[in-house]
Amino acid sequence: VNVFYQPLEKIAAVVETYPKGIAGFRNYQELMNTEPDIVDRPDAHDDLVLSGNLAFEKVTFGYSPDRTILDDINITIEAGETVAFVGPSGAGKTTLCSLVPRFYDVDDGRITIDGTDIRDMTMKCLRSQIGIVQQDVFLFAGTLRDNIAYGRLDASENEILDAAKSARLDDLIASLPAGLDTVIGERGVKLSGGQKQRVAIARIFLKNPPILILDEATSALDTETERAIQQSLDDLAKGRTTLVIAHRLATIRNADRIVVITQDGIAEQGSHDVLLARDGAYRRLHEAQVLRTG
Ligand code: ATP
Repeated sequence: VNVFYQPLEKIAAVVETYPKGIAGFRNYQELMNTEPDIVDRPDAHDDLVLSGNLAFEKVTFGYSPDRTILDDINITIEAGETVAFVGPSGAGKTTLCSLVPRFYDVDDGRITIDGTDIRDMTMKCLRSQIGIVQQDVFLFAGTLRDNIAYGRLDASENEILDAAKSARLDDLIASLPAGLDTVIGERGVKLSGGQKQRVAIARIFLKNPPILILDEATSALDTETERAIQQSLDDLAKGRTTLVIAHRLATIRNADRIVVITQDGIAEQGSHDVLLARDGAYRRLHEAQVLRTG
């Protein structure tokens, strides 16, 4: 069934609704820091410094052998480019992105970064080059400093402060009695959803990876907070290869490229303006959303 033959209302609803996510990807922060099931090849590279040219080459994948989710997907993404994936729920946007940090391995084809198959890098090397921002932010009971430095415990005071500033946490820090040493969480200062998002963003500024995956991170926040967070995310994406798993079209208008994924694979790709000028799947998604939101 081609989903684009469904009523427009239905497609728009699907694009707007925040996803439940998939179990594996949802708990990414824990996943990124636990020992992976996948074992490094004996001769895998451990010390590559990557610039972030990313390519999906004939990628085929299914969670089980009887059902293929991604079939022969080809996408080439240049270092620094922002690519947004849109399309109906269940088309495989999250799945496609979860293959990059190797939460799962492809069944066929390959994914390369700067020309090297990601299976020829150690998991540590690969994942140190990727930052992921998603809806659920994992904070632990401890100081704000420790929460920002999570994942980069060797960071200096200045590096932590710079990251906090880039994520626009500096006003919050200045307002807290003990600044970075303020204990947050259950027994300390409770952070708002937007502030938690900023901590997650600060962590990634500190990690400074060339590749970024944004699982539409702002949709549970009020409009004003959302706009502010969006600005921080735009800053974060600058100079990095960024994959956006998009659920609303408004936030991805400025992406360098939009890739429309359906159950049948890649329906079309191009900039917002180019795709809108075409009478295709993207225009129909867009028109449906405009109709709905007035
Ligand atoms: P959404 O917009 O709702 O987030 P999506 O395009 O990101 O959707 P995926 O989450 O990648 O789609 O899901 C693609 C398909 O794979 C769906 O049919 C989904 O049910 C299935 N799927 C996702 N995660 C798993 C999993 N861990 N095990 C088995 N099947 C899964």
